[in-house]
Amino acid sequence: MTTIAVYPGSFDPITNGHLDVIYRAATMFDRVVVAVAHNIEKVPLFTAAERVALVRAAVHGHQNVTVDEFDGLLVRYARQIGARVLVRGLRAVSDFEYEFQMALVNRRLDRHIETIFLMPKEEYIFLSSRTVKEIAALGGEASQFVPAVVEKALRRKSGVNSARRRRSKRV
Ligand code: ADP
Repeated sequence: MTTIAVYPGSFDPITNGHLDVIYRAATMFDRVVVAVAHNIEKVPLFTAAERVALVRAAVHGHQNVTVDEFDGLLVRYARQIGARVLVRGLRAVSDFEYEFQMALVNRRLDRHIETIFLMPKEEYIFLSSRTVKEIAALGGEASQFVPAVVEKALRRKSGVNSARRRRSKRV
């Protein structure tokens, strides 16, 4: 039987920390589906289509990793694609409470779906998409935290945003 695992998240944008989790999961399961959440509470920097494209480019060449997007209930999506495992990354203690709650709620919603937590390399423990966006917005070097394709996209975005800010100041 093929074991499919889903790694859901907003991936706004994907970082080396996410990739570390993906590669660990890829050695444990037959197939890993990175599921980019369409509707997220926060206003994302990248559109869903851009986030999916960046994840695709970042995992390119990894045979058992595929990328998809989803909307609505995660357990419903997992069931639809035949996945019985949800993968989440655990960083510092700050992730724990939220992740613990989500895992228990998801188990209530579907007792056949199990959540597992993977820890990244120590160097990624403090890495988040938010930090990366902040660094890029301030004109800092994000290349050690994200794949090259994401770094380029961040640069383009912050270029566009600062041009927009300059234009709006002129009016
Ligand atoms: P969300 O927007 O749902 O908080 P993200 O898209 O940022 O989630 O991340 C998806 C999953 O990846 C979450 O389980 C999150 O804890 C985990 N994650 C994010 N960054 C890292 C990292 N640097 N190392 C390990 N796991 C991470």
